[in-house]
Amino acid sequence: MSLVNLHQVHKYYGDLHVLKGIDLDIKAGEVVSIIGKSGSGKSTLLRCINGLEEYQQGGITVDGNEVTTEDIQVRRLALSVGMIFQNFNLFPHMTVGENIMLAPTIVLKKSKAEAEEIARAMLLKVGLEEKFDSYPEKLSGGQQQRVAIARALAMSPKVLLCDEITSALDPELVGEVLKVLEQLAKEGMTLVLVTHEMNFARDVGSKVVFMHQGKVWEEGDSKTLLSDPQTDELKQFIGAVL
Ligand code: ADP
Ligand code: MG
Repeated sequence: MSLVNLHQVHKYYGDLHVLKGIDLDIKAGEVVSIIGKSGSGKSTLLRCINGLEEYQQGGITVDGNEVTTEDIQVRRLALSVGMIFQNFNLFPHMTVGENIMLAPTIVLKKSKAEAEEIARAMLLKVGLEEKFDSYPEKLSGGQQQRVAIARALAMSPKVLLCDEITSALDPELVGEVLKVLEQLAKEGMTLVLVTHEMNFARDVGSKVVFMHQGKVWEEGDSKTLLSDPQTDELKQFIGAVL
């Protein structure tokens, strides 16, 4: 049973043909790493799955629900897609706890007590239970990104999309964020990650998708694909990042 399915998805920005017939099937519990050069369409692909971008042809379903561009709020809620970005995007004027409680309160209509319980449980999951009352600026980049993960998890997403979430971090902070993702993967969370972390893709990921010029150029089991790339383009890419 597929959790996320893309069928012949085409996306244009004006005349620019950015996604050129993407077929992709992701099953519950899979950890899919999307790799490829800058400009190959990775972020656009995630944004289409999350309903943040329109696409012009083809179809996308998440958990059997079609992703259309109408009625965004209702659709997002129904689809349960969480997304985390490179730059955390926490609200600076709110505490960590308030950041996490916001969507459960407003979107899911949870009571304050319920939302707080969820927020504390999610902070525990990312190892930051003592930061409930802190403001984001008091936290390191790695801690802020872990709060962003907790905030996404508070909405009980079926799939978590991560767009280069360790790319803005100092190297010594990358590991703590990857460790949280690894734990989520172990718990069975479906993850779709645009990442440059090849070790993570190989060791934790189940599948790797290599994008090139708006197409899925090569895809397969993460260990096989990265150790035995078939196309010259993927060989070159692996040579450049390792
Ligand atoms: P990646 O994440 O792989 O670096 P993107 O999905 O961000 O690639 O971009 C794919 C292509 O689409 C690039 O040529 C980029 O310049 C273009 N693009 C991305 N976002 C927009 C936008 N909002 N408007 C116009 N062009 C865009
Ligand atoms: Mg990108």
